[in-house]
Amino acid sequence: MKILVVEDEKKIAKFIKRGLEDEGYEVEVACDGEEGHQKVLMGSFGIIILDLMLTNRGGLTFLEEMRGKRILTPVLVVSGRNKVEDIVAGLDAGADDYLKKPFAITELIARVKALQRRAGRDRGAKIFFGDLCLDPVKHRVWLNEKEIEFTGKEYELLEYLVRHQNQVVSRNMIADAIWEGGFDTFTNIIDVYVNYLRKKIDKGRDRKFIHTVRGQGYIFKDEG
Ligand code: CA
Repeated sequence: MKILVVEDEKKIAKFIKRGLEDEGYEVEVACDGEEGHQKVLMGSFGIIILDLMLTNRGGLTFLEEMRGKRILTPVLVVSGRNKVEDIVAGLDAGADDYLKKPFAITELIARVKALQRRAGRDRGAKIFFGDLCLDPVKHRVWLNEKEIEFTGKEYELLEYLVRHQNQVVSRNMIADAIWEGGFDTFTNIIDVYVNYLRKKIDKGRDRKFIHTVRGQGYIFKDEG
């Protein structure tokens, strides 16, 4: 699982990165709010660790914008602001947990693991998006309460797109997630499968779910 650390203090970012990497996590660091925002829109992270006092886009704004786009990646805030009202503001803005600075790396890792477990439990719940409903356990899909049949790979691709709604996903990311890599081999197959999905969920609708982002990939969103 890849973790994004959004932290402008280099020493702390390095400390967190090293601690998580020792636990076997893959870690990317963003040095300010803007870079973090771009990475969230373009990448796929299991958990985000977020400082609040950031240059170029404060942590709370970062959180609100991300949740506004319905990007639901679990967020652990780490902050030196530790009054009750700060913590409440962080949770209200969409944080899943809040860790006061300074902290021990062992506590950060324990919190990350707890968030990961929680996200894993939620994975079985039905997913709703616009008029779509997905059952991740039985791999069934309904559009406007009418069931639509999907093959195994079609379902996997649809669930991946829905879980990364409002984010640009590249063919490379899709290949990694659904076809376990092999980008060159699968690039054409991905386009074919995206067309299958379009026929099943977008055909005849004014508002489309799947949008092509030229030169980058696809974005799944519920607007014209
Ligand atoms: Ca900071």
